[in-house]
Amino acid sequence: MTWGHVQQTIDGRAALSQESYPVFDPATGAQVTTAPQCSQRQLEEALEAAWRAGATWSRNESLRRSALRDFADALANEADALAAALTGEQGKPLDEARAEITGGIEILRTYAELPLPVDVLATGGPITSEVGRQPCGVVAAIIPWNFPFSIAMSKLGAALLGGNTIVLKPSPFTPVTTLLAGALSRTTLPAGVANFLSGGDNLGAAMARHPATRAVTFTGSVSAGKEVAKVAAADLKRVVLELGGNDAAIVLPDAQPATVAADLCAIAFRNCGQICATIKRLYVHASIHDRLVEELARQANALKVGRGTDAGVQMGPIQNRMQLQRIKDLVAQAVVDGALIAAGGRAWHGPGYFYPPTVIAQATDVMRVVKEEQFGPVLPVLSYENLDDAVARANDSTFGLTSSVWGNDPRTLREVAERLDAGVVNINTHDVQIPGAPFSGRRWSGIGAEGGIHGVLALTDPRVLNTAGR
Ligand code: NAD
Repeated sequence: MTWGHVQQTIDGRAALSQESYPVFDPATGAQVTTAPQCSQRQLEEALEAAWRAGATWSRNESLRRSALRDFADALANEADALAAALTGEQGKPLDEARAEITGGIEILRTYAELPLPVDVLATGGPITSEVGRQPCGVVAAIIPWNFPFSIAMSKLGAALLGGNTIVLKPSPFTPVTTLLAGALSRTTLPAGVANFLSGGDNLGAAMARHPATRAVTFTGSVSAGKEVAKVAAADLKRVVLELGGNDAAIVLPDAQPATVAADLCAIAFRNCGQICATIKRLYVHASIHDRLVEELARQANALKVGRGTDAGVQMGPIQNRMQLQRIKDLVAQAVVDGALIAAGGRAWHGPGYFYPPTVIAQATDVMRVVKEEQFGPVLPVLSYENLDDAVARANDSTFGLTSSVWGNDPRTLREVAERLDAGVVNINTHDVQIPGAPFSGRRWSGIGAEGGIHGVLALTDPRVLNTAGR
């Protein structure tokens, strides 16, 4: 499988397009291919095909399960090629790309076997009442550039098992892997059930706005998410929004700096820090602050940064030039505002969008690098004296995606965890997604949930069937 000629998939066939846009390798900054640009006519065709396919698809649960299994098998047969494409366009180390591909396939397989709930209610009278689910119809799925494959598969699996059909669009920064997956759907999913389009923000907006889509599942920035929410509201579409995060982690005074630092660095710099649900603000008790900063800097400096295809590389480049510039600006501003760079802090000269793992000491809550989601390899460390104060500062955010607390005393850890205000709270870990657990954020981190049955529930409506006894 090569990625020289990626095409969209509409109604089970490759859809040739007149226009295209460039795709870059973030490790070199060089253009590596072009991706097709979806026309308005192709969008109409895809939505029409999805709507038509829904008539049979929505009524045949066993077909849905077997088609999902077949699609997962076809993807698994091409897992190496998909991982290579993912590293080529996204930049992440090949091992991380392989893990994303296998994880995405596993999500599909899990959906293929997941029971759909039907509750039989005890009415106490002559009527039997069953509560099941019914699909919304055509789902528009809009994907970001940090985990293009696994996020696409999570949305697709949930939508399709629920009996919906789907029109899906990757980010224009990372279209290749998703379009390759689309090519593999042509022989495994019935025509029209899953349509893989390609284009920029306007295409996403058109998909969300179109009256044929009855639900929108969006993962991306808060600003775009709010736009999606507006157009969905105007047509009362169902909506799932997985938006940003500015996750806090609190380190208690009894934590062991060396041990904790290794875990914190591995988490904060995975995928070059471009993860919605990772550590972006670290609150450390004053008694261990200096030792922990030292350990974090040692760990960060030891990480091997380079092209995702090179052996032993632990962190690749930032995915795109704009994001690299944002990271540079945030760090430069933090230094002007009085922060100290304990590790990293300077972009590399030369090709590619590389930025080293960066630890910022003496950060304060008012700095932009702390208040805003960085979405890059930057970890600001803040000192606290009083635990109540640390919890209040951690919770003081428009975001509420995930958070964590680190230490040794189980009772204190549990008490602090109970007070952290986020969709997922972790003790001595962070950025874990347990299969079947709902992934959902509070406040500006999003609306609705993904993950296992929660993903299906968000893209289906209840359906009550009452039968009178005779
Ligand atoms: P983005 O919002 O710029 O783009 C995401 C997708 O939305 C792209 O496909 C884009 O083309 C499309 N889009 C942009 N504007 C749109 C509009 N008005 N209507 C419809 N579609 C539109 O985000 P990004 O830069 O690709 O991704 C980074 C952001 O995504 C970060 O804020 C990150 O936290 C967030 N994210 C969240 C999760 C989560 O599950 N909560 C996961 C990954 C990334």
